[in-house]
Amino acid sequence: MRDENCIFCKIAAGEIPSATLYEDGDFRAILDLGPASKGHTLILPKQHSRDLTQLPESEAAKVLPLAGKIGAALCSALGADGFNVVQNNGAAAGQTVPHFHLHIIPRYEGGENIVSWTPGSLSEDDRDMIVSKVSGILASKG
Ligand code: AMP
Ligand code: ZN
Repeated sequence: MRDENCIFCKIAAGEIPSATLYEDGDFRAILDLGPASKGHTLILPKQHSRDLTQLPESEAAKVLPLAGKIGAALCSALGADGFNVVQNNGAAAGQTVPHFHLHIIPRYEGGENIVSWTPGSLSEDDRDMIVSKVSGILASKG
């Protein structure tokens, strides 16, 4: 499946030039044009899926091992000390391009804290409500 209006479909297909680090039959990995850190890479499936909820399981099974390999290569090549794997689903979560992609963001000791949040607290009411509702939905979907 391909979406004619999707820029990441065009980049993944090689119709728009990109700084490609890796390509196989299923994926293209490119440098992000607005990097959060040196080496910030995007893994794009060649098939269009809007987000993780639409990604076929056959592609999902391959994308995380690839993320590990690319993260390791970035650390080795650039002297990064670690990396974050980030994946946004929906505009509310910060997704700006509605074609599934994984961000591989190299991290450097002493560098900027790029992926972080302020921890809140989990109330007993929320805990019980969330566990009851979500586990019920997941169980009903088998
Ligand atoms: P997200 O906010 O998770 O949808 O991430 C979209 C990412 O794509 C952002 O980090 C952008 O900098 C990046 N981006 C958008 N257009 C391009 C492009 N043509 N080539 C490379 N990266 C892009
Ligand atoms: Zn697409």
